[in-house]
Amino acid sequence: MTDTPAPSDAAEDDGPARGPDAAPLRPSILDPLFALARTLPGIGPKMAPMIERLLGTPEQPARIVDLLFHLPQGGVARQLKGSIAEAPPGEPVTVGVTVVSHRPAQPGAGRRPHRVLVEDPTGDIALVFFGMPRARVEKMLPLGAHRYVSGRIDLWDGHRQMVHPSRITDEAGLAALPAVEPIYGATEGLTSRAISKLAHAALDRLPILPEWQDPAWLERHALPPFADALRAEHRPEEAPAPRREDGTPPPRTAARRRLAYDEILASQLALALLRARQRRKPGRRNAGDGRLAGRIEAALPFGLTSAQTRAVAEIRADLASERRMLRLLQGDVGSGKTAVALLAVASAVEAGRQAALMAPTEILARQHFERLGPMAGPLRLRLMTGRDRAAERRATLGDLAAGRIDVLVGTHALFQDSVVFRDLGLAVVDEQHRFGVHQRLALGAKGEAVDFLVMTATPIPRTLALTFFGDMDVSVLDEKPAGRQPIKTLTIPVERIDEVVAGLERALARGERAYWICPLVAESEFIDLAAAQERFEDLRRHFGEAVGLIHGKMPGPEKDAAMERFAAGGTKVLVSTTVVEVGVDVREATIMVIEHAERFGLAQLHQLRGRVGRGSAASSCLLLYRGPLGQVARARLEMMRESEDGFRLAEEDLRLRGEGEVLGTRQSGLAAFRLASLETDADLLEAARDDARLVVERDPGLRGARGRALRVLLYLFERDAAIRLLGAG
Ligand code: ADP
Ligand code: MG
Repeated sequence: MTDTPAPSDAAEDDGPARGPDAAPLRPSILDPLFALARTLPGIGPKMAPMIERLLGTPEQPARIVDLLFHLPQGGVARQLKGSIAEAPPGEPVTVGVTVVSHRPAQPGAGRRPHRVLVEDPTGDIALVFFGMPRARVEKMLPLGAHRYVSGRIDLWDGHRQMVHPSRITDEAGLAALPAVEPIYGATEGLTSRAISKLAHAALDRLPILPEWQDPAWLERHALPPFADALRAEHRPEEAPAPRREDGTPPPRTAARRRLAYDEILASQLALALLRARQRRKPGRRNAGDGRLAGRIEAALPFGLTSAQTRAVAEIRADLASERRMLRLLQGDVGSGKTAVALLAVASAVEAGRQAALMAPTEILARQHFERLGPMAGPLRLRLMTGRDRAAERRATLGDLAAGRIDVLVGTHALFQDSVVFRDLGLAVVDEQHRFGVHQRLALGAKGEAVDFLVMTATPIPRTLALTFFGDMDVSVLDEKPAGRQPIKTLTIPVERIDEVVAGLERALARGERAYWICPLVAESEFIDLAAAQERFEDLRRHFGEAVGLIHGKMPGPEKDAAMERFAAGGTKVLVSTTVVEVGVDVREATIMVIEHAERFGLAQLHQLRGRVGRGSAASSCLLLYRGPLGQVARARLEMMRESEDGFRLAEEDLRLRGEGEVLGTRQSGLAAFRLASLETDADLLEAARDDARLVVERDPGLRGARGRALRVLLYLFERDAAIRLLGAG
């Protein structure tokens, strides 16, 4: 593979404008869909800003594709009810009636409406119009005419009536009515019906696109073509089934599943291309003969759990192969990821290469460094952070380039251009979801055929792992080291805080230590800080100098000092905002108090709780809450009492709150899907991943007939970046 595509490929597939860096041009067949929405007929100067508010952003005005992907949330059936007598009161209905008489509003008689008496063989009702000109009502409903009226029938003053029918039509008009009126997420000034009209206009612009799905798959699952599916969604013929009694969503229509599958396949294909590119450069064998790893393992103060042993074996097999490793190591807090990483690193060093270990914050980088040190035996470790003095830094860079450092531990600082390895072979990245894929690529560029091990302590439900890390292989540490005691979890109303403080006093007298996490308020770190400071002073009045404080606004060295005082026992209670890193390890800490626990998500509560129970002493977690609790908050706190299984809690969190919260990516704009929903379409993920991998295996350049159609799919869902990978690497 060369870095630039052969010119003939470029001309053939994507038009002329393609360089190694620029994304190739979008196929012109998609142009009509990426035209601005405001070019549609019927959008005047009044409506345009409303469309932008609904579907556009300042950087990206709404396009026709955005309108088409703005699917209705539901539909209202306009079924024909047989008769007036049987029409259920208060429900939308359509009835066929004959006009019997008019009683127009009397001029000057206040707000008296124009009433029209209509009947069918089973009874009669009054149609009621307020403030509408008499001539207009009479024209819509001529005496003796037969009409179909839609609306709700209500009982008023003993008479049945329909106020302002939503539709009045004759036989021909009825035939043209949609059986179901789609209901869209609307915006101020823009009604659902207006959106529906625009969606219809947008459908008219839908080009004929090549089929990118495997026809056999479509047939097996009875899925319609893409265009038909879009039309079926915007012009529904059946009202969607209601949510089931247990609150789970109803099964989706074939049309909706088709669209969801398209979107999911696009994302999985993008990941598969990324994976293929990472692996395409021939890897090098990055595992040695086991002499260093063996020595290190033998010197560990514990034996590995079988989960650790399995993970180490999987990693070593990857390192030893000619392919490049891209592996996610998932393990709950305390599951022992560090030892696994250390043994991986040792393998690479045996093979004569260097390793980098990258953590998201200074405090974690420092802790990794300090904890690895005593276990690392013959490995030469070095820490590099943004806080190093210039001379220190120069020395580190010199030693790194000369190969006098085996393992460099650090933060984002490792990305900088000035950081040059003699021969980087393995990069271990902790808590990857805070780093983007781009940063991963940047680190990968610092060596030849760099193997990647990504560690995360956030248990990621399988569905999410596939969505965001579908390009990776996964090792799971699903077993805790032996000898850990369960953490006792209690929920306590904040009114009983005095009892908590009294209990804390007894625990401190026994020599235990405690974290006290302060509420997460609004979005402001300053407000969080004020609350933490107040609690700190409060507890100081009780426990004096034994109370420490740590928060995100502290300068780094102060943070470290506060953490170190607590770790060394200088302080016994550490009051903290949530910014304190989850990985920090103080074995004597046995009590975790979390204020306003009702404001945290399950995954976060679980992470915080995981900071106690690291030693062999019994630990507890006290969840203070302020009532009254909403349903979700109550469910969450109950789950916390019930379970210590991070994966189970994460699945539950996903169900309760959605994916962005679980991964902590909500703010980072890592939006998942527009058409698919992880709640209902999770089962499609695996199929899409397998399909995508197969495609990339058979047709890595996407040049065959299906491959070309799949390029259109990637553009349609704006995974353009993946297309760039086709040419490069
Ligand atoms: P993680 O990073 O996955 O949260 P760590 O690697 O920090 O977990 O390990 C948590 C603690 O458990 C550390 O103090 C570590 O020394 C210890 N530990 C790791 N593996 C084992 C094991 N197999 N048996 C006993 N203790 C272990
Ligand atoms: Mg860790």
